[in-house]
Amino acid sequence: MTLTTGMSAKQDYDCVVIGAGVQGSFTAYQLAKHNKKTLLLEQFVLPHTRGSSHGQTRIIRRAYEQDIYTQMMGEGYQLWAQLEKEAGVTLYRQTGLLVMGPETSGDYPLVKNTLLKNKVPTVILSRDNFHQHIPNVVLSEGHGALLDVTGGVLFADRALKAVQDQFQKLGGVIQDNEKVTEIKPGPVVKVTTSGGVYQARNVVITAGPWTNKLLAHTGFQLPLEVFTHGESVRSVDGFQQPSSDPSG
Ligand SMILES: Cc1cc2nc3c(=O)[nH]c(=O)nc-3n(C[C@H](O)[C@H](O)[C@H](O)COP(=O)(O)OP(=O)(O)OC[C@H]3O[C@@H](n4cnc5c(N)ncnc54)[C@H](O)[C@@H]3O)c2cc1C
Repeated sequence: MTLTTGMSAKQDYDCVVIGAGVQGSFTAYQLAKHNKKTLLLEQFVLPHTRGSSHGQTRIIRRAYEQDIYTQMMGEGYQLWAQLEKEAGVTLYRQTGLLVMGPETSGDYPLVKNTLLKNKVPTVILSRDNFHQHIPNVVLSEGHGALLDVTGGVLFADRALKAVQDQFQKLGGVIQDNEKVTEIKPGPVVKVTTSGGVYQARNVVITAGPWTNKLLAHTGFQLPLEVFTHGESVRSVDGFQQPSSDPSG
């Protein structure tokens, strides 16, 4: 159904997702998979490099201090594998992820415990075999080392494109270069952008560091802190086990 307003045509959706980074794009794709008529709005022309989701790679791992993340990532790996299959592209490369630290304090024992408890394929390295595999690094006295065998890289740019393409193949609509300027809550939510007005029963906000700016006019703010950081990833020779089940 299309309603007409003074500004432009209102278009009705089951759900409007605001922000086409990895969070919004994957959310929109899942909604479309569940037969929801979904609109994905992005303020910049896609693809862009101004959010958090651009770049060639991201780390993927099951090595976390808390069970909840390790368990959640079991499902995460399955969802990425499913997308790879549907899109016919490789998105994940298994490299293994090395974790080192004091054996009895800090994060290392927590990560080790979580991996073992959740039966994630893990190699515990003794001081001897650590040196054998990683000759250029000395494992300090009292420190432990392990390899989360499921750890690896996700090809970020490729993943973003794949998920957006699949969303569109499922009938989802992407409007880029359209900044959301107002959200009016209610039984039917009204979303105003630089290009038009949309209505939906549900709105998902995945605006990353822009979230509080987007919410400013509502008077509602989240305790978010915006910061920048960088990371690098290397594969550890001798520990790649491509045949193991990444879902653990
Ligand atoms: C250097 C770096 C390394 C990282 N490494 C890892 C890693 O190894 N492993 C890992 O899991 N995670 C990693 N992360 C974190 C991960 O990349 C982020 O958690 C993820 O990209 C966040 O995605 P997002 O969709 O929430 O945010 P974003 O990608 O920032 O997307 C938000 C989108 O909302 C849009 N938007 C905002 N306001 C509006 C508006 N008013 N109207 C329309 N659109 C709007 C923005 O333009 C943007 O496209 C890393 C992040 C960085 C920066």
